[in-house]
Amino acid sequence: MIEDKVVIITGASSGIGEATAKLLASKGAHVVLGARREDKLKRIADEIEQDGGRAVWQALDVTQQSANDNVVELARSTFGRVDAIFLNAGLMPNSPLSALKTDDWHRMVDVNVKGVLNGVAAVLPIFVKQKSGHVIATSSVAGLKAYPGGAVYGGTKWFLRDFMEVLRMESAMEGTNIRTATIYPAAVNTELLATISQKETLSQMQGIYDMYGISPDRIASVVAFAIDQPEDTTINEFTVGPASQPW
Ligand code: NDP
Repeated sequence: MIEDKVVIITGASSGIGEATAKLLASKGAHVVLGARREDKLKRIADEIEQDGGRAVWQALDVTQQSANDNVVELARSTFGRVDAIFLNAGLMPNSPLSALKTDDWHRMVDVNVKGVLNGVAAVLPIFVKQKSGHVIATSSVAGLKAYPGGAVYGGTKWFLRDFMEVLRMESAMEGTNIRTATIYPAAVNTELLATISQKETLSQMQGIYDMYGISPDRIASVVAFAIDQPEDTTINEFTVGPASQPW
């Protein structure tokens, strides 16, 4: 069931997060949107409310633990509880290692890895106490295979596979019933390529996305499918991409 569930979405200001917020809200979820660009969050929340849905938003930099805690608190104070968190904020400034774009390496670790840890730390005490909850994360096909140019990005996304599976296993062992879902998308048309500063990598990736990219709505419907499963059922892994893309 999606109706009346309270779902926090990080990286909700564009792309996959925006599409998921709108789809879940249209199915009756109460969505809590977080990202850094407040103007975009406000527009998206307004659009959801105009369409008859429920949405609140708050500025969120996932690298700050206190900001994650505040978004969880907003969900609780507005809607009374938290049922699911979609850990989706991420960036992909790919480049060959030899380009030594070390600031980009560290930013990816901070957002794609530590941002997920911060989100889980913020929500886990609630999920443990209520003995239910759903943690959903956006990995990537780059979290399943190695791609030149994506050593660090891929590493941050491979991390999720282990982390999410251990979260699921430990929760089952502890009897807290937390469901997990990790999504591994291939090329999806969003703002993601805007973070690539290395010219050759950008033009190569742009070519792939121009040729194959599909709508972020496709990922949103996978998130909705995962949430919609009965509470006693967890579907952990989804690889989703353009039918025409060899990956
Ligand atoms: P977008 O660039 O459109 O969205 C990225 C989102 O992450 C934005 O809402 C951005 O918001 C947010 N974000 C970035 N840094 C931070 C931060 N420090 N704190 C909070 N939010 C942050 O791209 P996508 O929708 O494609 O990306 C969503 C996820 O999907 C990412 O994890 C990406 O790695 C993954 N993915 C995407 C694929 C694709 O082909 N598009 C393929 C595989 C995986 P703001 O800038 O406002 O903070």
